[in-house]
Amino acid sequence: MNHFNYKDKELYCENIPVKEIAGKVKTPFYLYSSATLTRHFNVFDRAFSGHPHLICFAVKANSNLAVLNLLGKLGAGADIVSGGELHRVLKAGIPADRIVYSGVGKTEKEIREAAKADILMFNVESMEEMDAISRQARRLKCRTRVSFRVNPDVDANTHPYISTGLKKNKFGLPMSQALEAYKVASDRDELDVVGIDCHIGSQLIQVEPFVDAIGRIKSMLYELKGFGIRLKFIDIGGGLGIKYQDEIPPEPDAYAKALLSEIKDLPHCLIIEPGRSIVGNAGILVTKILYTKDTEEKRFYIVDAAMNDLVRPSLYEAYHEILPVIETNTHLHPADIVGPICETGDFLARERPMPDLNQGSLLAVMSAGAYGFTMSSNYNSRPRVSEVMVKDDHFKVIRKRETYASLLRGETVW
Ligand SMILES: *Cc1c(COP(=O)(O)O)cnc(C)c1O
Repeated sequence: MNHFNYKDKELYCENIPVKEIAGKVKTPFYLYSSATLTRHFNVFDRAFSGHPHLICFAVKANSNLAVLNLLGKLGAGADIVSGGELHRVLKAGIPADRIVYSGVGKTEKEIREAAKADILMFNVESMEEMDAISRQARRLKCRTRVSFRVNPDVDANTHPYISTGLKKNKFGLPMSQALEAYKVASDRDELDVVGIDCHIGSQLIQVEPFVDAIGRIKSMLYELKGFGIRLKFIDIGGGLGIKYQDEIPPEPDAYAKALLSEIKDLPHCLIIEPGRSIVGNAGILVTKILYTKDTEEKRFYIVDAAMNDLVRPSLYEAYHEILPVIETNTHLHPADIVGPICETGDFLARERPMPDLNQGSLLAVMSAGAYGFTMSSNYNSRPRVSEVMVKDDHFKVIRKRETYASLLRGETVW
């Protein structure tokens, strides 16, 4: 459920017409509903209430300070993948003891910063990374909590680019090497080995792969116990899918039930790292038709948003529903909705049945709250768009549109 709905043929975000915001903020812009974010987080959190747990929001899905601050106030922790994300979440007020740090390529500088901040744990993805964490912990004279990310080799049945839990993927340690890693790490004074972690992929619409993964983690736990290694945390990663088109992803309740039924007798605190399922349907991209063009082959709606603003359709051929901000009743006609960028791959939708629309019509690209703004770029020297948040009948610009000056920042002629 989200708070983007039509009232009298006009699209609203909570209690404010999208058109009213577009009259004050230049298109294109991302628009987030705080009520939807709150609802999604609370539903997710409540689903796990039967077991000790911590929800670490995957910051790469949406890293706006206001979004992070809102989720942090609701009790969320953060799953970060870079020093930049660490900086953001601390600025947003998320306490360090709710931060976990994932990613295959943490630099020593990033490791030092996170160890200094005393984050909850590092999800370690290789033996050499473990050595780097050891070095930094000794240097800082601190004891650092670590988990190993294992690669459970389960097929997430999702797009190959967002599948992460197969042996051929770069992520985690193979199960066959994990035991050795745990033994080495538990002999080191500067490392406090507290958990086990995996993340098998994104936009999963079945619970079975999660259940398979947690099953493999459980066997690892028993094996570790045999060597006197006892852990406190099981981190199952993120990846729960959302409805973009006609997918029927599990509800958070069903997802939680499936996971908890596997671990209900274990004392471990469960960490979950959802990104998309919290923010995906809490945001839209509002764009305006610059020009319409009918050719013998096709109808084009050329809009002011492009692949640099929302790359998912170009990168993964992802489907985003596209709705007119003012509903019209004309018949539907297939159209390509394309941006101004000089690439044939620059489209938001192709062959999409759309009503007859005019120059100046506003469109809402739905389900754009996750991996939308965070994956945007300055390609074609296009300033990144603004982000706006709605609370009931008010809105606030939570990130200003970039200017031409911001495009050139740091550059120099020589
Ligand atoms: C991307 C990522 C997530 C979040 O994935 P979603 O599909 O957005 O829920 C969680 N954990 C890790 C390690 C990730 O890389």
